[in-house]
Amino acid sequence: LSTDSDVVKREAESISKRSLRNNAEKFEFQAEVSRLMDILINSLYSNKDIFLRELISNASDALDKIRFLSLTDKEVLGEGDNTKLEIQIKLDKEKKILSIRDRGIGMTKEDLIKNLGTIAKSGTSAFVEKVQSSGDLNLIGQFGVGFYSVYLVADYVEVISKHNDDKQYVWESKADGAFAISEDTWNEPIGRGTEIRLHLREEAGEYLEESKLKVGISSNLTFVHLTFSFTLLFLDLVKKYSEFINFPIYIWASKE
Ligand code: ADP
Ligand code: MG
Repeated sequence: LSTDSDVVKREAESISKRSLRNNAEKFEFQAEVSRLMDILINSLYSNKDIFLRELISNASDALDKIRFLSLTDKEVLGEGDNTKLEIQIKLDKEKKILSIRDRGIGMTKEDLIKNLGTIAKSGTSAFVEKVQSSGDLNLIGQFGVGFYSVYLVADYVEVISKHNDDKQYVWESKADGAFAISEDTWNEPIGRGTEIRLHLREEAGEYLEESKLKVGISSNLTFVHLTFSFTLLFLDLVKKYSEFINFPIYIWASKE
């Protein structure tokens, strides 16, 4: 049973989650990046699931980087869970959050500012032109701006990252021309690596829709919590986009 005050509290929580944190440092996206994001967020492109391919590929790149460093310096891997070079994908149906996490190299505060917003890659304007003439978004990754495809399905994105050389930071943006960075003092420490939380748009809810999982373990995919309900569509997508990924991917969904 929920009382009126519960409802009010829940509404307040959901509002505060959706607005950028007050004490955060605010930045404007470089102009071309901002244009690209506008196009993505308003896109009617039907093949929106390419965002998953881009996120898995970025996670894999980040894991490659830390693994490469570890060849000459084993210490960089740290200990415990940090040594597990893996990717985890979670579906939270209640909160409508899809998150993907890697134990890769992570990003420092500087990295977050530069890589996710202020430095335009040379391919950015070329890609914007291409999309405007063809409407085809599929090649986004080849232009070096694959990350922004998250805005095909999300209207609010948080990137939590921890690099060995820095503290844990949160990058967040609602694709309205600005992003914010703050030292992460509220989430659990993630150890090392990056967790990307997509707050899915209403019409992207299909990524969380469930149907019973028929147990199937294929190549590098491992399903955790097999009694939970999964979306088969989602599973197919992950399979499709992880074909050439050399790290294990764990997937789980929230319990009903
Ligand atoms: P690309 O992967 O082609 O460089 P993206 O737009 O996909 O372009 O990503 C931009 C940059 O953001 C990457 O080059 C990388 O530096 C950084 N980045 C994105 N995702 C991650 C991640 N999971 N871990 C570490 N760095 C990341
Ligand atoms: Mg990429």
